Amino acid sequence: MRHDALHQLSRVLLLLGLAALAGILWVLLPLLLPLFGLGGDPGLVAWNRSVALISGHAGNDSGAVCTAADGTVTRTEAEINAAVAQLAAERLRRAGADVVVLDEYDERLQGLEAAVLVSLHADSCIDASGYKAAVHTYSVIPETNRRLLACIDAAYPAATGLAFHPNTITHNMTEYHAFQRIAATTPAAILELGFLGGDGALLTEQPELPARGVSDAILCFLKAQSTQKP
Ligand SMILES: [Zn+2]
Repeated sequence: MRHDALHQLSRVLLLLGLAALAGILWVLLPLLLPLFGLGGDPGLVAWNRSVALISGHAGNDSGAVCTAADGTVTRTEAEINAAVAQLAAERLRRAGADVVVLDEYDERLQGLEAAVLVSLHADSCIDASGYKAAVHTYSVIPETNRRLLACIDAAYPAATGLAFHPNTITHNMTEYHAFQRIAATTPAAILELGFLGGDGALLTEQPELPARGVSDAILCFLKAQSTQKP
């Protein structure tokens, strides 16, 4: 009889001990994990930051259209933009960002307030190679936009191997319609991912590379912003 009671008591104590240990771990783990570079949401660069991507031409038109000699369509700009936008959005969400992928003339662009907006386009079907990016000529936040461009110029070529393609930045880019719709304080850039002609194989067969370039550029920018005094 007595032996049974002791046995019961020790089992209760063991269970209580385990419960206490679990409780202590529950409290300490979130504090300890970031020390080892694991978990801990605040450690994510883009945690809770709002990122907007425009899938160029979506909901409006095909953009540039490439055709074979017999006239059949081989690739369209809008398809490439959409594939890269989705892959980049997934990567940014994994880094904790709150991402929206918008159409070219999306209603949500009006007065849009976001940590950053990047519009994704691609260049024509000619046999040329390279990316280019531009920001609004008349921005009220030129310094901030310059930091965004610097991040694109660092991250995008690193991920894709593409070089900057100079001398083809047009007014369509620097006075891009979306720049004039969004809130003046929203940092924004338009990025031409590459040429559908010369860079067509990369853009269609390895869209994860431009997507990585886009997400790395945005994460670089968000990181720079978080260390910058407002
Ligand atoms: Zn376009």
